[in-house]
Amino acid sequence: MKKMYEGKAKILFDDGVEGTLIQKFKDSATAFNAKKKDEFDGKGVLNRKISELMFGYLEGHGIKTHFVENLDERSDRVRSVEILKLEVVVRNRSAGSFCRRYAAPKNITFTPCLFELYLKEDELDDPQITEDSALALELINKDQLEHVRETTLKINELMKDLFLKIGFILVDYKLEFGKTSDGEIILADEISPDTMRLWDPETLDSYDKDLFREDTGDLLVGYREVLKRLQEQL
Ligand code: UDP
Repeated sequence: MKKMYEGKAKILFDDGVEGTLIQKFKDSATAFNAKKKDEFDGKGVLNRKISELMFGYLEGHGIKTHFVENLDERSDRVRSVEILKLEVVVRNRSAGSFCRRYAAPKNITFTPCLFELYLKEDELDDPQITEDSALALELINKDQLEHVRETTLKINELMKDLFLKIGFILVDYKLEFGKTSDGEIILADEISPDTMRLWDPETLDSYDKDLFREDTGDLLVGYREVLKRLQEQL
């Protein structure tokens, strides 16, 4: 098996099955562009399972994703796609970099949600990018951007509804899209508590990577609770 790419939380391997790759979830957690790092025994297993449930739920509602099949507790077969050099961030409430960037208070509700783009470039700390700049730099074309935006808004309604049902506020999250060999843009990467913020509706306690970012509790306890509630619901 050939290692194709190793990121902060996942590794991609090519095992020769055409049009697919193997995506393996690691136990490492990073924050603040890897300035803060740690290992959490079993995080990868939890995130893989949560991500599979999320992709399955979205597929069931007509969203195309890269997920093909589960292979083992840390690995899935996924469609091989060319990942867009853009991260999509959706915000339903203010938190994180939004508050820092605009000196805004936490927990403002956004209706409609905010749809933001960031340039995937670690060396620059993934700066926010306008839609016009992303088009000008040919990171995406107009039709693709329209498709990504529409798909994202659909995904947001589905995800908000799901998390409301299981007693969490879906605050914000990051999505990545990729291009298949036939030019189709599909949802890729992962959806897990590493890539979204989930709050308790009453206490606003976190069940996501903020437990690690802010040292406010046991990350694994939060992630296990998210998985348990998703399994009960889906
Ligand atoms: N996010 C992510 N990967 C990134 C940047 C952000 O998964 O490279 C997620 C993050 O977990 C949060 C949402 O996107 O759920 C918005 O993150 P934000 O821009 O507030 O940045 P952060 O809090 O990570 O500084």
